[in-house]
Amino acid sequence: MTIPASQTCLALFTLGALSLAPLSTADEPNDATLGAKPPEGAVVLFGGKDVAGWVKKDGKGPAEWPVKDGVMTVGHGDIKTTEQFGDFKLHLEFNIPYMPKAHGQGRGNSGVYLAGAYELQVLDSYGLKIQNNDCGAIYLQIVPSVNACKPPLRWQTYDVLFHKAKLEGGKVVKKARVTVVQNGIEIIKDREISPTPGGAGVKEGEDGPLLLQDHGNAVEYRNIWIKRLDS
Ligand code: MG
Repeated sequence: MTIPASQTCLALFTLGALSLAPLSTADEPNDATLGAKPPEGAVVLFGGKDVAGWVKKDGKGPAEWPVKDGVMTVGHGDIKTTEQFGDFKLHLEFNIPYMPKAHGQGRGNSGVYLAGAYELQVLDSYGLKIQNNDCGAIYLQIVPSVNACKPPLRWQTYDVLFHKAKLEGGKVVKKARVTVVQNGIEIIKDREISPTPGGAGVKEGEDGPLLLQDHGNAVEYRNIWIKRLDS
């Protein structure tokens, strides 16, 4: 489903004097954000060829997720990037399997841990009254403002703006902040977040990897890149 350009509007994310490339927003989930190209200076974390640059969650060995036809599929445990990130803009595409006999958290569950500490949930939440453990939620913490999910077997996107927590004297003086656009719709707008369960064990305020969760369901990923922001 693609909506006409005339129905889209643009939202500019501004950080101080730094204006970022606009992220498109729309009234209903759409395909306009699929295939977004990495901007200049971005780190391509998965371009469709292999899982180079990814390791197992414990760091002991390379990631073993299978890659086929430009897509990597969840399997063999959580994986994380070898590179660490603090303030960034992320683009990622995911595809949830059709699991009609599964329910709730067992239906297409995975997750994207921002800076290794904050889970942006991946789940089949199509058509549901959205909750704080559904797709697009910061797990058990922030409910998306709207359900922007597509049905399973349709490629979906996350475009995320993330700023890590700020420390002074080893203490958190400012929480991490996140904006999330799912399938072209802003579902979380510049909200403070705290670390969620799981992840790579990164402390608040530290740079961390991007971690993808293996929750036992064959969720697919493609076209993942991160652009670091000047802080
Ligand atoms: Mg999850």
